[in-house]
Amino acid sequence: MIDLYSLVKETGAFKTVKGEKESGRLSHAYLILTADGENLTEYLKIFARLMVCSNGSPCNACRACTLIEKNAYSDVYLYPKTGESVTSEEVNSLIEESYLKPIESDKKIFILTHAETMNAAAQNKLLKTLEEPPENVHILIGATSEFPLLSTVKSRVKKLEIPPYASERLFSALKEDCPDAEKLSAAIACSDGTAGNAFALYNDQTLKDVTDLAVEVIVDMQSSKDVLKYSNKIALSKCDISKFLSVLELLFRDLLAFNEKGEAFVSNKVAFEKIKDAKNFKIGSILNALEKITEAQKRKKFNANSTMLTEWLLFQILEGKYKWQKL
Ligand SMILES: [Zn+2]
Repeated sequence: MIDLYSLVKETGAFKTVKGEKESGRLSHAYLILTADGENLTEYLKIFARLMVCSNGSPCNACRACTLIEKNAYSDVYLYPKTGESVTSEEVNSLIEESYLKPIESDKKIFILTHAETMNAAAQNKLLKTLEEPPENVHILIGATSEFPLLSTVKSRVKKLEIPPYASERLFSALKEDCPDAEKLSAAIACSDGTAGNAFALYNDQTLKDVTDLAVEVIVDMQSSKDVLKYSNKIALSKCDISKFLSVLELLFRDLLAFNEKGEAFVSNKVAFEKIKDAKNFKIGSILNALEKITEAQKRKKFNANSTMLTEWLLFQILEGKYKWQKL
């Protein structure tokens, strides 16, 4: 199991709720935001344990903690019970439940996960309970983005964000599930700082191929003939261009970090071993490459043709490389 608890317990979001619990001032409703959709529900369950556990903050071992983890604790309700989004009907049942007294604990927690998929009618139904919930009722709303939520919902909840994690923290939380350290470093370097994305990339068979292609481009591309050769190769590999651009960006960032601050600051050490001899990239040409990659990422968002885009990008990188060599 990914050790999500070790990750989240260091966040401001967790510390805020912990402080409020310890001072007896838990809010009625929280909105927990994380880009990690894969682990959103697990994060919400950790917050529920934090709020309910009477042995610690949380102890992760008592009856309440164990049962919440298994989604079997009588005073913690997880919605949606079926399907992918919390519906109006489910909000109705939540409201009914909220008037009944807790059974084991001194409070009741209602978890609404993936609230970004709730429709406006369901959100509207929730408003009154969010504003004035019955005594000892707390609502934990989790979402991957706050934009689909009504402003009337957002104004009634305390918003807390789980930000992207630093690479070292992800590495220690994932190393048990992802034993290949080399592969894990590469996956984390390409992730958006979420455990879910890093884990998915670790298990993504194409990441290594994409990295090898990006390394080849940096080390071996010398002439405009090579530009065509490599843009064809990238097209034939059918790799995801966005992924290729992120990997290429990371490699150039590592070249920059190496040139400016030294090898200790390189993030993807394994791939870096293969590109560190690409000495003909001066700092100016590395910065140029990074700027063009950002431009390519923008163009990709506007649905630029992938083959033409890689061709354009590789030419720009090559041109920059020779321009700064002559200076
Ligand atoms: Zn506990």
